[in-house]
Amino acid sequence: MDYDLSDFLTATFIEARRQQLLEREQSIHARLATEDMPEAQRTNLIRVVLPNIMAALARIHVHAYGYCSDCEEPILQTRLELRPESPRCVHCQQTLDRQNPTDLPREQLLWRR
Ligand SMILES: [Zn+2]
Repeated sequence: MDYDLSDFLTATFIEARRQQLLEREQSIHARLATEDMPEAQRTNLIRVVLPNIMAALARIHVHAYGYCSDCEEPILQTRLELRPESPRCVHCQQTLDRQNPTDLPREQLLWRR
């Protein structure tokens, strides 16, 4: 049944993601201030990753965290643990990446570090 898929979305789990998001936000700001990085990577952090982090924190605030922004199904637990800012489930993200192929290399470049 549907609700079983989101059983892992407990207050403890979401609080851990919130801490993770805040740490990520801080470390990205620190990196932007100190690190010499390729312009594409800098742009990706500012235009994609930071806004995703802020949006995820906002979703936590309104108790909407953990659900895909496109199909509204729960996002996989492992995905949220790995990338707590993920706004979409794997399926919807892949669909989007196929529609915007230029975004893909930048994201891959960043997340493979
Ligand atoms: Zn989805």
